[in-house]
Amino acid sequence: MTQPPYIGRFAPTPSGYLHFGSLVAALASYLDARSAGGRWLLRMEDLDPPREIPGAQAEILRSLEAYGFAWDGPVIRQSERHEAYAQVVERLLAQGLAYACTCSRKQLEAYGGIYPGTCRNALHPTRDAAIRIRVPQLEYRFVDRVQGEFLQHLGREVGDFVIRRRDGLFAYQLAVVLDDAWQGITDVVRGADLLDSTPRQLYLQELLGLPQPRYLHVPLIVQADGSKLGKSYRSPALPADQASRQLCRALRALGQQPPVALQAATPRAVLDWGCAHWQAEAIPRCRSLLESQLP
Ligand code: GLU
Ligand code: ZN
Repeated sequence: MTQPPYIGRFAPTPSGYLHFGSLVAALASYLDARSAGGRWLLRMEDLDPPREIPGAQAEILRSLEAYGFAWDGPVIRQSERHEAYAQVVERLLAQGLAYACTCSRKQLEAYGGIYPGTCRNALHPTRDAAIRIRVPQLEYRFVDRVQGEFLQHLGREVGDFVIRRRDGLFAYQLAVVLDDAWQGITDVVRGADLLDSTPRQLYLQELLGLPQPRYLHVPLIVQADGSKLGKSYRSPALPADQASRQLCRALRALGQQPPVALQAATPRAVLDWGCAHWQAEAIPRCRSLLESQLP
């Protein structure tokens, strides 16, 4: 059987600007795709308008361009995909695989993290309710290309999870699975903070009869206090005037060994070097790296 052609993607959330940690993820997915002769797609994960920073989308695209990245095809926006998400939610509800949950914030807090399935058989109306997916009492397993074997028991460690929020916004877990399939993604390369989301995504793929991509989770870049760059922690945007230097730093964080002189080359030349010398096996096999201790 012939292998399907490689299709990779980078999927930033515009709740912040690109920072060094997102550069590491973007670079890994780009190099892994291009060195395999694959396509590299860009998807804006703008599912949550209240958390979006005005101007962040344009700034993310500007940073990627300044750093020499070129993506294939138009940028896909999740904000334009609501119809597709809504159809799947309806289907899962009709099949009894998902259900409406009307638990209050207070109740949810009292459950302490793992939703115990309180509303499973309540048949609440779906308006003004969160929609949750029933998870099986099963352990999900996959082998990550960098992190190795990963196991998670969906029932015990995750519980029935939300696919549409009470305010009507669609959840990341649902959108990412539908879009990866719709875009024909064969390889997901992203930060290790999403390792423990992967079993939920595998389960949704299984329920919906979607193909399962390969996964590669790169170490998350963290600050000395353990907080990750970006998101809750408002990191500054990547400096536009140090693209080659930052790209070389990101290459080293990924275990690659760019020559020192490459810092003086153009960003495109750094990417070309990275592509020609890419060794996914050299990526550090850990969940996180301290930014201050990077080579
Ligand atoms: N949008 C997610 C993020 O910025 C990435 C999702 C993914 O790569 O699956 O963390
Ligand atoms: Zn409930």
